[in-house]
Amino acid sequence: FNCRVKRGLAIRTGIRTQQQQFSTHSTPARLAGKVAIITGAASGVGKATAAEFIHHGAQVVLADIQHELGKYVAAELGPGATFVPCDVTQEPQVAAVVDLAVAKHGRLDIMYNNAGICGPMTFAVTDVDLTEFDRVMAVNVRSVVAGIKHAARVMVPRRAGSILCTASITGLVGGLAPLTYSLSKAAVAAAVRLSAAELSNHGIRVNCISPVGLPTPFGIKAIREIFPDMEEQRAVEMIELSSAELAGTKCEVEDVAKAATFLASDEAKYISGHNLVVDGGFTTSKRLKLSP
Ligand code: NAD
Repeated sequence: FNCRVKRGLAIRTGIRTQQQQFSTHSTPARLAGKVAIITGAASGVGKATAAEFIHHGAQVVLADIQHELGKYVAAELGPGATFVPCDVTQEPQVAAVVDLAVAKHGRLDIMYNNAGICGPMTFAVTDVDLTEFDRVMAVNVRSVVAGIKHAARVMVPRRAGSILCTASITGLVGGLAPLTYSLSKAAVAAAVRLSAAELSNHGIRVNCISPVGLPTPFGIKAIREIFPDMEEQRAVEMIELSSAELAGTKCEVEDVAKAATFLASDEAKYISGHNLVVDGGFTTSKRLKLSP
């Protein structure tokens, strides 16, 4: 049956085709009525994701160790945002944020374990500082386990929920970051797969996102640790240039926020245990370095 005729009929009879419904629907609220926690939400990826979640109708609890900035960001984001001080390395504080979200909003639909640090930018394996190793693992991995644990505690009885974590492409490809950081992000992806396996029995999805390098305070700090005299703007340019893979565009925190919104929403209702790489194809490509 001819599509054009079908569409013509639909227009004349006032019935909109599915295609038309989508094209006239400006911003469908993908997270309407949902309650979310985002850790590391005072800055970068977490802040952008909080804004995107609120834009899509969610109530968001922002958790971070940067108290003043967190309060400021929550005020900026409006009534859909609440800031709660939280050091994710402290399990009781993670548990308290989860309990606060439930007390304030009645339930928790989305837990986004996003807070992270890069640790020392020492690339040589022979120079790995094991005290720093413990610190990075505490912030990047132990906290994720605490976040999954306490989110599951309140999601299991409701047999529903979406847990997200921020991993990184550095956990997939060696040599992009120091071993300690890369290993922490590989562990995040593993924690996601392994907990997804168990939590699927309870109707809970667990996924992670692996972004390429982004010019957030985290990324800028990492570059300036290698090049201490570098201007901030130059560091931003260097990150954008080193992450550039897809011609005509660049990776921005909003790209991660949109991926998180999809994974958190019911549109991803059958996706669990997945690591969504947001890198413009960076990890698919190893170009030949030919020079005359
Ligand atoms: P960012 O520095 O802008 O934000 C990180 C936030 O985490 C900050 O607000 C910080 O205060 C918070 N935080 C740090 N330690 C904490 C703790 N113990 N408890 C609570 N909050 C804490 O950096 P970002 O780039 O938005 O980083 C977010 C996530 O993205 C991190 O997990 C990072 O590893 C990951 N990531 C970043 C990049 C990048 O290049 N920027 C790339 C891939 C993955």
